[in-house]
Amino acid sequence: PLYAAAGLDVWTMMNQAAASVGAVNLGQGYMSFPPKDFITRAAQEALAENSHNQYAPPRGRPGLLEQVGARFSRLLGRDIDPGSELSVHAGANEALLSAFTAFLEHGKGEEVILIEPAFDQYTPNVIMAGGRPVYVPLRVRTTKDPAREVVSSSDWKLDPAELEAAVSSKTRILVLNTPHNPVGKVFTREELEEIGAVAQRHNLLVIADEVYEHLTYGIEHVSIATLPGMWERTITVGSAGKLFGVTGWRVGWAVGPASLIAPTLSAHTRIVFTTNTPLQEGIASALCLAHDNDFFNVQRSEYERRRNRLMAALDDAGLPYVVPDGAYYLLANAASIKIPKDYEFPSYIEARGYNFKLAYFFIKEFGVSGIPPTEFYSDAHKALAVDYIRFAFCKTDEVLEEAARRLQKLK
Ligand code: GLN
Repeated sequence: PLYAAAGLDVWTMMNQAAASVGAVNLGQGYMSFPPKDFITRAAQEALAENSHNQYAPPRGRPGLLEQVGARFSRLLGRDIDPGSELSVHAGANEALLSAFTAFLEHGKGEEVILIEPAFDQYTPNVIMAGGRPVYVPLRVRTTKDPAREVVSSSDWKLDPAELEAAVSSKTRILVLNTPHNPVGKVFTREELEEIGAVAQRHNLLVIADEVYEHLTYGIEHVSIATLPGMWERTITVGSAGKLFGVTGWRVGWAVGPASLIAPTLSAHTRIVFTTNTPLQEGIASALCLAHDNDFFNVQRSEYERRRNRLMAALDDAGLPYVVPDGAYYLLANAASIKIPKDYEFPSYIEARGYNFKLAYFFIKEFGVSGIPPTEFYSDAHKALAVDYIRFAFCKTDEVLEEAARRLQKLK
């Protein structure tokens, strides 16, 4: 019933709407540019090797575990044992589902705290695993008027008291996403300490979705697992798709203490058994080469340039937005856009409320598509996002230039 009721997922829906009118697609966060040659070459070479065509061990190919272990040993400042503290998954998404599946019991009403906006897979994945999502929204705290002025993603705050009030005797897990999709917020060390304190006081497992850890703009990404007392209770999830701009490869991973990874790995084994072999090998080589060629620093500056181009386009069009400090999304505030009363919407848009109409109107009238962020909220909190449209900037200069040109129509 969960799926029957949901109908089209927001990504497919907005991709189809965009394609139907030839809109510039800043909706779904996929790269419109090819991966760097060394990455695709690594995969091609891996596929050419006969021994890479059969099942990988459920935990992952040893070569990839070793590379990811080395990366996390650096990121988390501790020696990660690839044989017990890591598991490779069919994308970060499956790592999350496996972790929920491992730690939630059906029929017990166990609760998972999701911070809104919450990436749209979290809710169904928690429910599939037998859990009940409980939502705590980020709230915009600034003297500025976000409908008229540019604000910072750091103005979107989690109130620790509101978080703690959401915890009950049934709460098992807290999901934290930093850098954050869609806000672009990078949680500060102080904010993470407050969240970590709540997790420790109530003995919660933290699932840290840090798939954008390599993309921050002038701000340091802090992994909550590095805070005192947090390693023991945190599963950190990462993504090769995000790291290398290959979102279709579906390779991700989970890192944490052996006691948390073992059940996650068991769930993974029963959900997909194992992740595809050749692309694990390809990613292993790419990770090795990336450290040699300073790939991540170059990539970060390329994304920062794309972010700045989109912000300049919105400045020029007079549309305020939330400055992202990380990831590759930006929330534009379209409160000033007035949709004519008699404007016609297809029924599948009409049914989804004002925010979907706004995104659709944008596609039709300005030829630029984004994602309606109310999809990242529970019904009770959708009002917080009705005026926003999320634009992705993991796109080529040409795409961003064309979007800028079209947005001029807003003036
Ligand atoms: N993470 C990407 C985004 O937010 C893609 C999501 C998806 O297609 N499921 O756009």
